Order: sequence, then structure tokens, then C-alpha cells
Amino acid sequence: PALGGCRFIEYDNETDALVDALRLARGMTYKAALAGLNHGGGKSVIIRPRTGFNRTNLFRAFGKFIGDLRGRYITAEDSGTSIEDMDVVRSVTEHVTGVDPARGGSGDPSPFTALGVRRGIEACVRFALGRQSLDGIHVSVQGVGHVGYHLCRELHAAGAQLTVADVDPLKSERAQREFGASIATLDEIFSIECDVFAPCALGSALNRTTVPQLRAKIVAGAANNQLAVPTIGEDLRQRGILYAPDYAINAGGLVNVAQEVIGYDADKARARTMKIYDTIYEIAERAQKAETRTDIVANKIVEERLAKL
Ligand code: NAD
Repeated sequence: PALGGCRFIEYDNETDALVDALRLARGMTYKAALAGLNHGGGKSVIIRPRTGFNRTNLFRAFGKFIGDLRGRYITAEDSGTSIEDMDVVRSVTEHVTGVDPARGGSGDPSPFTALGVRRGIEACVRFALGRQSLDGIHVSVQGVGHVGYHLCRELHAAGAQLTVADVDPLKSERAQREFGASIATLDEIFSIECDVFAPCALGSALNRTTVPQLRAKIVAGAANNQLAVPTIGEDLRQRGILYAPDYAINAGGLVNVAQEVIGYDADKARARTMKIYDTIYEIAERAQKAETRTDIVANKIVEERLAKL
């Protein structure tokens, strides 16, 4: 079955919502295949009403719709949805993950996504800088929301130095307070002289305006669809920046909800998420050997696996 979260945000029109769902679903296909999960790619979007609505009724109706698909698609959280929403969905269909741990669910996927990103950063640091640990490595994190916050916690525990930026000053201040992070403005974060730039906000962080500003040697973060257009991957390569393909490094949350489908076991999900290190290292090695981009190598691995189905 296809597995992927439900996004609940405002869209200008139905076409935008449909395009977003299809683009995200395609990304999930690649993410699942590269993580070695036997799931198809799926994603759902609900156009968030601009005026008052009954959230429980809305997610119950969504659950009924998911139920009608009879298990061909399994949903979970994404931007704008919460464990509570998934619990409502669970009251009408079993085809949902990311529900409350008290009900046998795996809960919030963000800590697992952050763990996988930390492992991916470790692989990049070893490959590009020849360093075996993150001690003293400077990471600039764009967006300290769910994943960014947990990533900062992981990196701080490993001895990394942090600079953060978020549109919500309270989130940056929390990272400063808890992890000793320096705070940069939304524009400054791209040009911080550091080892790793970790995009953990929205998509398209890497574009024609931002890439020339980068002073990091590695780009490795949680955000989906980081490259505004695929050719930005070439711009990064030309600048000698090692890029960890987004869907390869941010698969920890998907690994976690996939575990819930077969019976939740946090240790197993953790062990599998730790392997993101090997995946990222292998992609970097293959790209160097073939003198090509890391995102091209990742796509090739996926397409080879899908061709065998
Ligand atoms: P979130 O909404 O909790 O956090 C995003 C943060 O980015 C927010 O704090 C927001 O204020 C901030 N932000 C928005 N625009 C910004 C900007 N221009 N500059 C700096 N900060 C900005 O979302 P999240 O769940 O942490 O996800 C972050 C990214 O990771 C998203 O792209 C998401 O698709 C991706 N992702 C998340 C998961 C997961 O497990 N949550 C899994 C895979 C991928």
C-alpha cells in the first residue's frame, strides 16, 4: 500500500492542492524505495477552510474516505495535522499511522526524522571532511520547528556548534536557551560560514538566489523538495558542496510509521533509521566515482529498484 501523510494547509485553488499532493506522493515513492520499504508513495491534502470549521467532523469525514480506499493508502501526519487528528481518523478506519502511543501508535515522527538527519550529517562529515565525529562541527539550521528542534538536540548532544533561524523568534530563542545556539536572521542563515547547512523549513530553500550565498561545505537537512529545480543540484556540485538528497536523509519518520503498519517496535524503527548513515555514505561515494550529482545517484538507485518490481 501507499504510505504518506496528510497535509492540511490553505491552497489558492484545487489545482494547486492536486499538484502538491501528486508531487509529494511521487517523493514518497522515491523515499520508500530508497529506504528499502515495501510501500508505494502516497500523500493526501485537505484544503484548509479560511473560515470556521469543525476539525473533528472534518477528520472523521477524511477517515471515512480513507476507509473507502480499503487499505490501498495509509495516512499519517504532515504539515498542519497532529496526533489528535490521526486519532480521530483512527476512530473510523484502521488505515492510519502516527496515532497516539497510548493507543499502540508511533506518535510524532519528527524525532525519528531528526535522528536520520543527524546520521546523514555524520556520514557527510566523514565523507567530505574526514571527521569521525560531530564534535566542534558548526551546523546552521534553517527552521527549528518539529524536526529542526529535535535535530538541534541531537547535534548539541554530539558536541556540534549551532546557528539557527526561524520566522518564529520563540523557536529560535528556545534553541538558544536549550542548546546554546546563535541566532541568525532569515536571510543571514544562508551565508553563515559553517560546515553544514541544514534546511529544515519549507521546500525550495536551495535556489538561484540562495546557493551562491552558501559558505557551507555540506547541505544536509530535513526539508522535502529542497532543490527549487533539479539543476540546482549541479550548481551545488560545481561549488564543491556535498548535498545529501532530501528524500534519502529525511526518511526516518517514514521508517517509523512503516514500522507501525506491521506492529510498532521503537527499537526496530530506530535501528533502521540509523542505517541512513550507510545510504548517504554510499550515495556520496557513488557520485564521486561517477563524477555526477548525489541526487542523480539517489534517483538511479530508486529507479533500478522500481524497474525490478
Ligand atoms: P514545522 O512546521 O514544525 O517546522 C518548520 C519550521 O520552519 C517552523 O518553525 C517555521 O516557523 C519555520 N520556517 C518557515 N519558513 C521559514 C524560513 N523562511 N526561514 C526559517 N524558518 C522558517 O515542520 P517540520 O515537521 O519540522 O518539517 C520541516 C521540514 O521537514 C518540512 O519541509 C517537512 O516537509 C520536512 N519533513 C518533516 C518530517 C517530519 O517527520 N515532521 C519528515 C520528513 C520531512
